[in-house]
Amino acid sequence: MGKFDGKVALVTGAASGIGRASAQAFAREGASVIVADIQFDAGRETVRLIEEAGGEAKFIEADISKATQAESLVDGATRAWGRLDYAHNNAGVLGTAKPTHEIDEADWDRLLAINLKGVWLCMRYEVPRLLEQGGGAIVNTSSTAGIVGIQALAAYTASKHGVAGLTKAAALDYAKLNIRVNAVCPGGVDTPLIHNIEHPESFPPQAMPAMKRLGTPEDIANAVVWLCSDDASYVTGHLMVVDGAMTVQ
Ligand code: NAD
Repeated sequence: MGKFDGKVALVTGAASGIGRASAQAFAREGASVIVADIQFDAGRETVRLIEEAGGEAKFIEADISKATQAESLVDGATRAWGRLDYAHNNAGVLGTAKPTHEIDEADWDRLLAINLKGVWLCMRYEVPRLLEQGGGAIVNTSSTAGIVGIQALAAYTASKHGVAGLTKAAALDYAKLNIRVNAVCPGGVDTPLIHNIEHPESFPPQAMPAMKRLGTPEDIANAVVWLCSDDASYVTGHLMVVDGAMTVQ
């Protein structure tokens, strides 16, 4: 018996890193999983890994920064197994590390469109489905950059503070309607996102966690699954920091 037998979970950015681990964790707990991403082959690989482990998943290609694609993603997810119970709105990009005044306007717009507007667009179409069914749970991926500032990453930091605020406000909107809305705030996690950092030397030393190791995608997925589970039935509007004691230093 899994925690999520008979339930359906949607995970964005599930072709890689934290999203893939979250999709696998939902499937291990018995959920049927919609794997959403812009990366077709890697998204299909997540589905293959889930099926190989005995789970059930389908891939839907979607750019969540586009309203029409977010809408058809949620429609497709609901059609796939006739319901939607959980959403992990996780897709995101880091952008190029540079001082605030050197950020290109187009880069700013693109990053905010994916990391912040994309999370809101997904919620805009997920929430009506959850309301129709009488409830559900949403977890958005913010970051420790949603709690503190990260040098040379102003657009990213602004977007993740935005996700934190969006999560709190939405938790209030739906608190009486049986939809819980929380966020995970990972510290440094071992995924392609941080391996693609162009100037890692520009990051401040306090970005190193006290535990002296990077998190694993599974460290974050475990928190996401817990936040969606009935074990967290009184937890909403919470920003769950999972960072090996980075931000408390
Ligand atoms: P990742 O690069 O491994 O995965 C991100 C996934 O999002 C990729 O598969 C990518 O194709 C997908 N994606 C990007 N833009 C998209 C779009 N417009 N539509 C749909 N999918 C899109 O990175 P990750 O580390 O797993 O990141 C997942 C989330 O965790 C991101 O929101 C990131 O900001 C956040 N995060 C990561 C870390 C870290 O250290 N890795 C720390 C804090 C927060």
